[in-house]
Amino acid sequence: MSTAIEAEPRHDRRGGVWDYISPSRLALFLKCPLAWKLRYIDGVRSPTSPALFVGKVVHAGLESWYRHRMLGLELGAGTLRAWIADFWGQSAADENMTFESVAQETALQAQAIELVGTYLAQVPADEPRPLAVEATLEAPLIDPNSGENLGIPLLGVADLILGPATSARICDFKTSSKAAPPHEITHELQLTSYAWLFRQTTGQSESGLEIRSLIKTRSPKVEAHAYPARTGRHFARLFSVIREYLDALDSGRHNFRPGGGCAMCDFRESHCRDWTGSGR
Ligand code: SF4
Repeated sequence: MSTAIEAEPRHDRRGGVWDYISPSRLALFLKCPLAWKLRYIDGVRSPTSPALFVGKVVHAGLESWYRHRMLGLELGAGTLRAWIADFWGQSAADENMTFESVAQETALQAQAIELVGTYLAQVPADEPRPLAVEATLEAPLIDPNSGENLGIPLLGVADLILGPATSARICDFKTSSKAAPPHEITHELQLTSYAWLFRQTTGQSESGLEIRSLIKTRSPKVEAHAYPARTGRHFARLFSVIREYLDALDSGRHNFRPGGGCAMCDFRESHCRDWTGSGR
C-alpha cells in the first residue's frame, strides 16, 4: 500500500547547490566530497582537457544526427563531417581551448569525426526513431517508499531516448580511451536517475537502458551494453545515496577521500594538498 506524500518538503530551497541534484553531482560527491565542494560550492573551475573536448564534440555530433533523425531526416556523412569541423572551431574558440600543437588539434578533430562515423556505421537499420535527444528532465524527489518529499528536484540530461514512449530505451553515450567491462553498478546511479526522471515526467516505464561507448582505440570501436528496466531496489539505493548527499549539505562536512581517483583530480596540487580538514 502506498503511503501519503508529505505536503511539506524536507528542505527549503536556498539556491546554488539546493536548486537541484544531478547524476554528475552525485557521482562527484561519492568520489570525493571535497572535490564536490570545490566545484559546486566554491565554484573552482577546471580547464577542459583535450580528451574531454573530444567527448563533447562527439556528443554534439551524435546529437545533431539524432535530432535530424527525429524529424525523419538523414544527415549524410559528408554533411555531418563538415558540421563537426565547424562545431569544433567555434567550440574551441568559445572554451579557449589550447592544444599542444596544430598537429595535435588536427588529429583530435579527425578522431572525433572518425568516432562518430564508426558509431553511425553500426546504428541498426531498424533502430526506432528517437523520442527525445539531449532531453533535460526534471522531477521532484519523492521517496517511493516513505512518500517523503525531499524538497529538491532531480535534474538530468538524457542523451537519447528511443521510442515509442510505451517501450522507451534510455541511452547514454560515453567516450573513453579503452573498453571497460559492462558492470552495471558502474553506471547504476546515472541510469536509475534517468529512469526516475523518465517515469516521473511521462508516467511510463522504460523498457531498458543502454550505455553506448565510443572507444578511442587506434581503430575506433563502439560497444553497447544493455541493462534491464529499473526496479524498486534500484530506486531505494538511489534515494539512500541522495539522503546521504543531503545530510552532507546540511552538515557542511565535505571531507577529502584519497584514493585511486586522485591521479586524475584537477584539485590535487592546487587545493587538496594544503587542505586542513573540515574543522568540525
Ligand atoms: S586529490 Fe583526491 S582527495 Fe584530493 S580533492 Fe582530489 S579526489 Fe579528493
